[in-house]
Amino acid sequence: MSVLRFDSVTKTYAGGRVALSDFSFALGEGEMAFATGHSGAGKSTILKLAHLAERPTHGEVIFAGRNLSRVRGSQVPAHRREVGVVFQDHRLLAESSVAENVGLPLVVRGLGASQVRQRVNEVLQRMGLADRLAALPAELSAGEQQRVGIARAIVAAPRLLLADEPTGNLDPTLAAEIMALLAELPARGTSVLVVSHDLALIKQMRQRVLVLDKGQLVDDICPQDLAQ
Ligand code: ADP
Ligand code: ADP
Repeated sequence: MSVLRFDSVTKTYAGGRVALSDFSFALGEGEMAFATGHSGAGKSTILKLAHLAERPTHGEVIFAGRNLSRVRGSQVPAHRREVGVVFQDHRLLAESSVAENVGLPLVVRGLGASQVRQRVNEVLQRMGLADRLAALPAELSAGEQQRVGIARAIVAAPRLLLADEPTGNLDPTLAAEIMALLAELPARGTSVLVVSHDLALIKQMRQRVLVLDKGQLVDDICPQDLAQ
């Protein structure tokens, strides 16, 4: 089964701008894919539709078999709990420690303090941040901040992780490290969709690549095609 499917989705914003035009694709359970293309191609709109920040004008978005057009406003938070999101600017709470930032999604879900602590420690260990747990975001390097953003997005083991230019502010070495961390997620049951315009980095990752141009899918390249 696919975890995320777009069926002939068109998205027209107020003012008439067509961001996606008859766009279809499916992301399998345990799959990782990149979406690339020029600025304005519609990449971010895919992510916004997938976490219900926007609604399609035509067509359907299906998440784990559920048609998102049937998800009402009051059910949107429940949907978002199954989808982790990583932003380029990480959007961490400045006044909260690393541990508090990462634990927040678990607190929201009503987990007890000791369970929160255990899971936060686990995920920070995996992200190589075990010794930074009491730090404030401003005390971290850019790469560390982004790893905290990822830790927060995956701490509740979402079925799908969406990342919008997660390495946009990082140098190539740090960017490759961040992508490598994301590439570990499918094996742990989280499918991954990454928006990026960094073609050199995407090539290096050897994953599926969706190429968008003016709201249309113009190429869908599988890792086998990149074999040599
Ligand atoms: P990308 O992520 O590939 O840069 P976007 O999905 O952000 O592309 O945008 C696709 C098109 O839709 C662009 O022309 C953009 O200006 C337009 N757009 C995006 N968001 C909005 C919005 N909230 N209101 C109006 N137009 C928008
Ligand atoms: P990016 O290309 O990195 O996604 P943008 O500068 O296109 O960033 O968009 C930044 C924000 O502004 C997004 O939330 C997008 O939805 C919104 N936006 C983009 N284009 C427009 C537009 N023409 N009118 C209104 N909002 C827009």
